[in-house]
Amino acid sequence: MRINIAIDGPSASGKSTVARELCERLGYKHLDTGAMYRCVALKVVNDDIDINKEKELKKCLRDIDIRIDDEGKVYLNGEDVSLRIRTDEISMMASNVSTKKIVREFLVKLQQKIAEEKGYVMDGRDIGTVVLPNAELKIYLTASVEARAKRRYLENKEKGLNSDLQTLKNEIIARDYQDTHRKYSPLRQAPDAILIDSSEMSKADVVEEVMRLAAEYCQE
Ligand code: C5P
Repeated sequence: MRINIAIDGPSASGKSTVARELCERLGYKHLDTGAMYRCVALKVVNDDIDINKEKELKKCLRDIDIRIDDEGKVYLNGEDVSLRIRTDEISMMASNVSTKKIVREFLVKLQQKIAEEKGYVMDGRDIGTVVLPNAELKIYLTASVEARAKRRYLENKEKGLNSDLQTLKNEIIARDYQDTHRKYSPLRQAPDAILIDSSEMSKADVVEEVMRLAAEYCQE
């Protein structure tokens, strides 16, 4: 039996890493919805769009084509932007554009269409609450700001990107605030989501725990 697994949580809580590993183990597909918001942010920056002007934003969405391949490479209008969407500037702009109702409606529709076929691990901020309210398994993955900043720092280092730990911490706090306080689909734990605090857990521990929960669901 194939199910959909929703993983929500704040920035840098390890959602995508865990989702990728789960997909490998289960033979499922991964949809990193944050990458989609990041693509909109990159287009906004590239085209110098004023996100407070709805007409401009609407046009931007009309001209956008986002594709994510099976290896997780992200394409914006045919161009591989996998690395360019990961800069600090785009992270913050993604959080900004995600406060806009028309952006959310546009991306949520796309995400729901993709997940019609079961067998997805989808990660984001509103998967369990808005995108897939009927997902069979919902996880809310979180960790302390310190643990998340440290992970992002090491991830950046591995990618050859320079970063400063304190700056990363400040950005995480700012994004957490914006993501939890926005008007449309603020980040929150769905009532039926299972909370996992990974501050003291390795990626492998988290994956094991979700695998156990998925197996439990499938046996019910
Ligand atoms: O997950 P990631 O950090 O890549 O997401 C970038 C930004 O996109 C988040 O800070 C959040 O504001 C927004 N986002 C969202 N809803 C989602 C996924 C991401 O609002 N489902």
